[in-house]
Amino acid sequence: MSDPSRESAPRSTTDPSRRSLLGAALGGGAGLLLLDRRTATAAAVPRDSAIADTATWGARDPRATIDVLDHAPSKIVVHHTATPNGTDYSRAHAFALARSVQDHHMDVNGWIDTGQHFTISRGGYATEGRHNSLAAVRDGSRHVVGAHTAGQNRLAVGIENEGTYDELDPRDAQYTRLVELCARLCRRYDIAPHEIYGHRDFNATDCPGDRLHALLGRLRSDVAAEVGGDPTGVSWPLLRSGDAGDPVRVLQYLLNEHGASLTADGVYGPATESAVGDFQRSTGAVVDGLAGNQTWNQAVRERGSGDRGPAVRAVQHRLGTAVDGIFGPNTATAVRSFQADRGITTDGVVRVRTWRALLR
Ligand SMILES: [Zn+2]
Repeated sequence: MSDPSRESAPRSTTDPSRRSLLGAALGGGAGLLLLDRRTATAAAVPRDSAIADTATWGARDPRATIDVLDHAPSKIVVHHTATPNGTDYSRAHAFALARSVQDHHMDVNGWIDTGQHFTISRGGYATEGRHNSLAAVRDGSRHVVGAHTAGQNRLAVGIENEGTYDELDPRDAQYTRLVELCARLCRRYDIAPHEIYGHRDFNATDCPGDRLHALLGRLRSDVAAEVGGDPTGVSWPLLRSGDAGDPVRVLQYLLNEHGASLTADGVYGPATESAVGDFQRSTGAVVDGLAGNQTWNQAVRERGSGDRGPAVRAVQHRLGTAVDGIFGPNTATAVRSFQADRGITTDGVVRVRTWRALLR
């Protein structure tokens, strides 16, 4: 069994420990890099597009049983490793990187295995991170619980990109492989391209760097060009103390879904502000009591037929159906009608676009 508290993602704004320790592990002086001094000069994407599994790159066994869920993930989170932008673009280096990250996550962070599902080297080689991730993708309806984004590890596939992208863009070979991997995941798991995020969209971190984060719009478009769908990302309103109205009421219901016990009165008073702060603390988000992108991204949950609870009440309240917290046939019909009215795919399931439309 994994220990979620020990496996929560780093929460500090700058991740100094992670940056320096990983930097030390991968930078100059690390013996493992001495094995891989031959550098490829071609910037072309390696023809070997297969994702190297854990056995191929020589992973250690995980320390405990990997938790595999019986549902597909619904989003992808892009990261950077915050390690040096090295110039060894070889396959051997990609494998050494995978081993080094696993050592760091197990020996320094105390995790059961590599945190992320996949890693892409600067040379454009993709490797499996946490064991069983590739098998889960091939299955198409299973998700390996990772340790890459606090609050999202049961819902999101995590992809680490070797390097630091605060001031530089990833190499073309790396970006091309990232598009390819995201497209494969979207196809296999039926993930919408607009559900590709950066780590900072959920947690208090700079990851994946300003430049890679700024590339995510293009990434969503490039992936949508391959798998279809509207790549436009969803952005959320900023609600704060003193606000009132239905969006506040939806927020209150969603906070209740995550354990708060607010009266859904549509008034952003001290109790709501405090509940937002508690929720932010529990999900590794920036703790400021303001409900903005990180808070909404963490709070919304897919809801459809058969689901119950406060989030369903939020949907019912906004659609004017009986507010009983049970997603039955009447709620599904109301959702379909609302989606048709707003130009959203009429599937009767409340996903991120429908949630956003419910706030308007
Ligand atoms: Zn990250």
